[in-house]
Amino acid sequence: MCRFRAVGLDLFNTLITIEEEALETAIHTLTRNLQFEGFAITLQDFNSVYTNTALSYIREAKQSYRETHNRFWISGALDKLGYSVDPDDPRILRSVEQYFAAFLEYSKLIPGTTEMLSKISQNYKLGLLSNFTDGAGARNLLNHLGLSRFFSSLLISGELGYRKPHPFVFDALAESLQVKPREVIYIGDDPEADVKGALNSGLQPVWTTYVRDNNVSFAPGVDQKLKEPPEPNIPKICHWQELFEYLNQPFTKS
Ligand SMILES: [Mg+2]
Repeated sequence: MCRFRAVGLDLFNTLITIEEEALETAIHTLTRNLQFEGFAITLQDFNSVYTNTALSYIREAKQSYRETHNRFWISGALDKLGYSVDPDDPRILRSVEQYFAAFLEYSKLIPGTTEMLSKISQNYKLGLLSNFTDGAGARNLLNHLGLSRFFSSLLISGELGYRKPHPFVFDALAESLQVKPREVIYIGDDPEADVKGALNSGLQPVWTTYVRDNNVSFAPGVDQKLKEPPEPNIPKICHWQELFEYLNQPFTKS
């Protein structure tokens, strides 16, 4: 009998991809919105200051595993441009919303994803666990692509406080699905955050390489050169058909 009762899934580059031009468009949208809110900034000045500020917050989050949020990046950038604005100022929060809305039209499902989720949700509880700074932005994206309905739980690092590969978020995933960590298969593309993270928390990782193997654009953090699993004996799938084959094999490990 199969020992697994639940499947956890990463979002970016596992279920969906984002077209390359999305980031530039979103930063333009963000800048225009801040101008509309009354800040006399130019696209050029804001873009460069904002990018550097964001990168420094992201670097810190990757080191501490504590998730960051876009409102701090915007507030920090505006501060450097002479505007002292609280990160929770409604003008900033509205701009964050606009920023994430700009990504929607550039998001695409990896082929076969809806069918795969529909199929495996008949036999397993499904949980989404994503490193995503903004809970509302993540939920809008999932609704836009019609994915929310398949999941019993949606866990977003921006709401959890911690990000993958920290064990806190994998424990939270198992707990939200009401199963033990060893009863969860976790599918993701990132060798560090997904594969090692899941492994260290006692989940069974499955490494998905669709984006890597097809050189699909906008895959932040993905080392395209890495072709072998980051840890020995980690199942690797490139197409959803390979997941079905993996799930259908007899599981003998206890
Ligand atoms: Mg990913």
